[in-house]
Amino acid sequence: MNTHPTVVRAPSMPDGTPEVPVCIVGGGSCGLSAAIALRQAGIEALVLERDANPTGSTALSSGFIPAAQTRLQRALGIEDSYQRLIDDVMKKAHGQAPLHLVEAYVHAVTPAIDTLERLGLPFEIVDGFLYPGHSVRRMHTMPEKTGATFMTRLAQLASDLGADVLGQALVRQLWIASDGRVLGVGYQRPDGQMEHLACQYLLLACNGFGGNTQMVRELLPEMTEAVFAGHQGNDGTAISWGQQLGWRMGDLDAYQGHGSWAMPQGALVTWAFIMEGGVQINARGQRFNDETGGYSEAAVHVLAQPGAMAWDVFDAPLLELLRGFPDFRDAEAAGALRTAADVPALAALIGCDPAVLQATLDEIRPGHTDQLGRRFSRALAPPYFAVKVTGALFHTQGGLEVDARCRVIDQQGQALDNLYAAGGAARGVSGRGADGYMAGNGLLSAVGGGWLAARDIAARLGAA
Ligand SMILES: Cc1cc2nc3c(=O)[nH]c(=O)nc-3n(C[C@H](O)[C@H](O)[C@H](O)COP(=O)(O)OP(=O)(O)OC[C@H]3O[C@@H](n4cnc5c(N)ncnc54)[C@H](O)[C@@H]3O)c2cc1C
Repeated sequence: MNTHPTVVRAPSMPDGTPEVPVCIVGGGSCGLSAAIALRQAGIEALVLERDANPTGSTALSSGFIPAAQTRLQRALGIEDSYQRLIDDVMKKAHGQAPLHLVEAYVHAVTPAIDTLERLGLPFEIVDGFLYPGHSVRRMHTMPEKTGATFMTRLAQLASDLGADVLGQALVRQLWIASDGRVLGVGYQRPDGQMEHLACQYLLLACNGFGGNTQMVRELLPEMTEAVFAGHQGNDGTAISWGQQLGWRMGDLDAYQGHGSWAMPQGALVTWAFIMEGGVQINARGQRFNDETGGYSEAAVHVLAQPGAMAWDVFDAPLLELLRGFPDFRDAEAAGALRTAADVPALAALIGCDPAVLQATLDEIRPGHTDQLGRRFSRALAPPYFAVKVTGALFHTQGGLEVDARCRVIDQQGQALDNLYAAGGAARGVSGRGADGYMAGNGLLSAVGGGWLAARDIAARLGAA
């Protein structure tokens, strides 16, 4: 049996194929947000998910979702606006992000968060630091600060609202009529059998191609050797169909990297420590980048260092900050954290010349801007703490070109009538390469895009 995504051109689905109003491929945060929005509108929604239980890259993430003008922000007295978030996203993407999508997602993610909160998801806003590019506190997250707990609650809510999620259903066939209308899908069951489902509307919510080694080699050559920290189901299914049908694609060379992936433990050391004064130092004892530019582009800088690695270096106040993040606690529990009483001990740990390291640390002082363009507001004080890290690929940001309603754009530039894509399956909002990614762009697209697509479909199906 061919397990690659294929396109089946046919006038109709096989006789006896069951039909649903809306089929969603992929049960990550995009697919489940869409299913919830559809159920809210009284529409039947069936999610086909390759895993037994939906997790996706969302469950591996920190679950930080940026949104402006939410109920929670207002309650906390945080002044923000749609335009401010749009401007922040566009600025981080050097003006290269598709404005129609940035605007559409920003306006959709707020009602999504507000509704999910009203339905019982206990959102909080991340406190204590701002990620690069964000001008105000707007990262909405679960109290546990994990994507796993966000996914657990989303899945429970979708189920409570009556959405159907069929696990172990690997969608492999896209059935399409000669006029471009999508008829349905074929999906493989664990026993290898192919089953079929017809639908009036199809939403592709199956993320990008970060887990497809061949596609990464072709489209993101600079990340070929990088660790992939996302979900293996990010195998490029949607992009493969788009390539086969000649649909328009956007920003296929864009991605979210991360320059602080603990090695060999394989855990995230959150960038909060950088924003509050921590640094990255290479095996020669030198800094190599203004880290405050962003963690995504830092992946490329770290991979370019000797051994494709660096050391995250920080002190006691920053250790306390980091311990507030479950990812870091996992890394620490796995043995990633090293302690050095003074500069010679830190140099011995790193394996560099103590004099070189001392000169590097001397540059870190209040009010000083170093040669890399980073301005420091504080010095690091001994004892020092260090974690060995590498650059990782988190998820791809390029994908199917979609309009402001998330309808897929075909070869001629026309929106396909009944095919939608959102989240990592669609073109993202980060422009090109790694450095346009602003923290939260992934879930902004997934939750905002899923919500937007579902609301559009619901309106077309005549729902409230
Ligand atoms: C370590 C890490 C930390 C991150 N932290 C953040 C963060 O804090 N904030 C943020 O905004 N972004 C973050 N991201 C990125 C974020 O996780 C993604 O952008 C987001 O999860 C995408 O959501 P999605 O629903 O599109 O995809 P996913 O969550 O990956 O869901 C896609 C689903 O589709 C299923 N699927 C795929 N193909 C098929 C198929 N053919 N048939 C059936 N099912 C299929 C998969 O099994 C999966 O369940 C992080 C990523 C990583 C790896």
